[in-house]
Amino acid sequence: MFPFDNSYARLPERFHASVYPEAVSGPVLIKFNEALAKNLSLDLDPKDTNRLAAIFAGNVLPPGAEPLAMAYAGHQFGNFVPQLGDGRAILLGEVVDVEGVRRDIQLKGAGPTPFSRRGDGRAALGPVLREYIISEAFAALGIPATRALAAVLSGEPVYREQPVPGAVFTRVAASHVRVGTFQYFAAREDQEAIRLLADYVIDRHYPDLKQEPEPYLALLQRVSDRQAALIARWLSIGFIHGVMNTDNMTISGESIDFGPCAFLDEYDPMKVFSSIDRQGRYAYRNQPGIGQWNIARLAECLLPLLDADEEKAVAKANEVLKSFGETFQSHWIAAFRRKLGLGLEETGDAELVQDLLTAMHEGKADFTLTFRRLTDLAAAEEGQKALAAEAAFTEGFMPWEKAEQWLPRWRARLVREPERHDAASLMRSVNPAIIPRNHRIEQVIRAAMEGDLKPFERLLEALAEPYADRAEFDEYREAPLDEQKVRLTFCGT
Ligand code: AMP
Ligand code: MG
Repeated sequence: MFPFDNSYARLPERFHASVYPEAVSGPVLIKFNEALAKNLSLDLDPKDTNRLAAIFAGNVLPPGAEPLAMAYAGHQFGNFVPQLGDGRAILLGEVVDVEGVRRDIQLKGAGPTPFSRRGDGRAALGPVLREYIISEAFAALGIPATRALAAVLSGEPVYREQPVPGAVFTRVAASHVRVGTFQYFAAREDQEAIRLLADYVIDRHYPDLKQEPEPYLALLQRVSDRQAALIARWLSIGFIHGVMNTDNMTISGESIDFGPCAFLDEYDPMKVFSSIDRQGRYAYRNQPGIGQWNIARLAECLLPLLDADEEKAVAKANEVLKSFGETFQSHWIAAFRRKLGLGLEETGDAELVQDLLTAMHEGKADFTLTFRRLTDLAAAEEGQKALAAEAAFTEGFMPWEKAEQWLPRWRARLVREPERHDAASLMRSVNPAIIPRNHRIEQVIRAAMEGDLKPFERLLEALAEPYADRAEFDEYREAPLDEQKVRLTFCGT
């Protein structure tokens, strides 16, 4: 039924703990991602919802599964915790998808594991729906992230501040190896395990690096580059991860663990939503700096593999760390050039972008709407331009005084593009009309808690084509009214 081919289970015992999901009393299918299941060659009947519910609740184990919890450590808000591990996640196994990519299939909330410590190993309905929505939104936006295969109600309450409906989420990932997985073994001075893990991830994610003269250094460089590129993508859509702990940073370069994550409404570079991020460590604009910090932690783990001479190893690692900032910057400016419809590279572009962002900040402009309005503006005929501009930058987007100064500079810059360059099409392909806005997710969760899953379904439909202009989903473009605004988000584990 699942063409399992489990490689992580083959790694030595100290990499994981064997553990079985604990059956729940009343599994009910919330959602099954049929397209993804096909892509994974899973032989499942989408109409047999009882069976799907039983499988994705962990009540029925598909043949060939070798369920395990992965061991990992991590820096949480800068403090090192030598043992975290999958406390509420159980890896069923791996399948190779139709494109030949090996993918983990993991249940989240299927019961306690040896790593659960104080936690119950369960998940609440709200966070499960949030993860489902964000994962699939990212897929549609084209940003690397783990995927959602299924969500199931457990039929049992979980106890958070109060009893809430329990649920199980099925996550698909290129792998669940994290920076924290390396840290787990580094903390135990287990050089052999670090080498095994490094070889494992090179084999699994970056086999081309085997040809490099220094494969482990190339691995560090590759992970660094992937993360720099990923974080630039996050910034380009106003995404704030919220908990960029080293255990929440993948080696594959996929976004993972959407706990208190949120999207900017009005632009503010120092915006923080997470209730537990009191110092603003993981604020919007701090994300590249934190990415680099996390890569430095990975580099520390890999030092013994980089060079027998410690000084030389440190020098090599530092070269990689130095490159992170430059790589991020080049991805960031490339992303924002596209957001402004620019194909050519001019030295003044960064300033043009920065001045827009500053004006947006001062004017409390909605991040997503502003770029989409600029897109409409680029598409408007010459004669309509002034009119459209005014309409676009009325209160709530960007104050007219700001727009009046900035727009002519942007227009002058667009004129320097080659005649055939289609700025509007480029902009429409990168500036989403619809993102998973925080208040929409909250509405979905509130309705689902009352037993109504229609808003969840509809939001997923709206997010399936985030760059399209589809009139029937217009309401999903809108910024929240003041009373709808989400100001604080919670881990909600
Ligand atoms: P996260 O917030 O997902 O990054 O998780 C941080 C650590 O807490 C990981 O080791 C998780 O496995 C663990 N954890 C989070 N929620 C639970 C839970 N409900 N039960 C057991 N462990 C948990
Ligand atoms: Mg985590």
